[in-house]
Amino acid sequence: MHDHPGGVLDISANALAGLLDAAHEPILVRDLEGRILFWNGGCETLYGHGREAARGAYAPQLLATVFPAPLDEITARLLDEGRWEGEVRRRLADGREAVIALRWSLRRDDAGAAWVLETGRDVTEARRAEEALRRSEYRFRNVFHAMSVSFWELDFSALAGMFGALRARGVTSLRAHIAENPGFVREMMRASQVVDVNEKSLQLFEATREQLLGPVDRFWPPCSEHVFAASVVAALEKQPHYESEARFRTYDGREFDGLFTCCYPREYLPQGATLVGVIDITDRLRAQEDLQRVQADLAHAARISTLGELTASIAHEVNQPLSAIVTNGEAGLRWLKRETPDLDEVGRAFDRMIGEANRASGVIGRIRTMAVKGEPETARLALGALVEDSVVLVRRELTAHDVVLRVQVPAGLPEVMGDRVQLQQVVVNLLVNAAQAMAEAEERVLTVRAAVEGEAVALSVADTGPGVPPERAAQLFNAFYTTKADGMGMGLSICRTIAQAHGGEIVLAPGSGRGATFVLKLPCAGDAQELD
Ligand code: ADP
Repeated sequence: MHDHPGGVLDISANALAGLLDAAHEPILVRDLEGRILFWNGGCETLYGHGREAARGAYAPQLLATVFPAPLDEITARLLDEGRWEGEVRRRLADGREAVIALRWSLRRDDAGAAWVLETGRDVTEARRAEEALRRSEYRFRNVFHAMSVSFWELDFSALAGMFGALRARGVTSLRAHIAENPGFVREMMRASQVVDVNEKSLQLFEATREQLLGPVDRFWPPCSEHVFAASVVAALEKQPHYESEARFRTYDGREFDGLFTCCYPREYLPQGATLVGVIDITDRLRAQEDLQRVQADLAHAARISTLGELTASIAHEVNQPLSAIVTNGEAGLRWLKRETPDLDEVGRAFDRMIGEANRASGVIGRIRTMAVKGEPETARLALGALVEDSVVLVRRELTAHDVVLRVQVPAGLPEVMGDRVQLQQVVVNLLVNAAQAMAEAEERVLTVRAAVEGEAVALSVADTGPGVPPERAAQLFNAFYTTKADGMGMGLSICRTIAQAHGGEIVLAPGSGRGATFVLKLPCAGDAQELD
């Protein structure tokens, strides 16, 4: 090797062959028929055949090459244009199949003999990855279009600029900024673009695809702005997804209730893309409302029937003060009719009469609230008073069943939030059930306890009856489950509905010896300010 006068390396044929041999790229030289003349180290590495095996062999056979078109056509192009590029499948020495991107160039020497220089590149992995991507894209598209959920692909890349501008003005919290500038939510909506929707979206939003593409704000009524804002905040806080119920507006302006879900895949977030799903829940909400109405009706019916069962008890509760009033009236009259009327005693008799009359009207008042079907009213309640009120209604029932009642409700327990009548109904139900369960028992003790359990107050009602066999424990709370000849089986079911509506629960405590213990847990009422 020495310097050519023109400054270009003058390389001998042998040296050139050595250089080609050392190249990493697979380089192959063959004649027009395909017989291999040169096979470098790159070919050995890629195809796995040594140069002794390769030299003189026919390339298409050695490598079981599958061409993208008939070989005659490819050869004709090569002869015509002097080059060809394409991808072929080849079998490697170890039997694996590989996809190779080939470049051929045709050379002729001075004598007119032709040969082909081939460089190859293994693109098997790249093609496999592309295929996998294509498939998953295809699957995604299929799911996207076939799902009975309305799907939206949103581009909110414009929001990044808006946030940048806010940061430049020193704003650090989007939440706080929105609280001060509610109009910013609309601006964000106008900057968020719908780039694709599926078939279901066309139905749900009653529009064509073209009508749906564009700014997203047209589909969000003002009452749902807080949901949109919360979804953006969730994305900024790097939450993986966000879900909420919201009102939506169709293209023509009809509003409906929807469940809105939004997912923020980490990979797509930097590109400002996200996928949003909307499910129409109008029917579900309507069904829920119907269910609540039916439950309220049933609760009312059950209450009336409980009151019916308690008639004797209630009559007694009212009768007692009435006879006390009569007795005191008579005594007062006697003090008056004396030669020297004792007005002090008359006054005391009057006081007692007023006290007893108040007691009677208190009892009647409780019965009326139980019997009247009214809207639930939430107030702060003390458990002690709740238990006392309930006990008044069942006292006679307990006496009739010869039940000893022990109430252990410490003063100073945290209050609970709830509807007095409903919660009273729960306690009355538990007390009546317990009394009935103990009808045949030798010892009849009913213990009502209350205690704080973490953030909740637990009220337990324990009896000394036969208890509940474990296999039946799961059914007790089902509607219409009863083991009583004249039972309705609604008591515990309604108790559970009421407990859950108060954010609490009612459970049968796991068997601890004889008797049954039902526990009503209710969350403690928070500080007064939080409730405003
Ligand atoms: P009902 O009282 O009309 O049967 P409930 O829903 O109040 O309806 O009760 C359902 C069933 O649960 C009762 O029939 C009874 O078998 C069982 N049960 C309720 N309370 C007790 C208890 N304290 N001890 C044993 N079994 C009970």
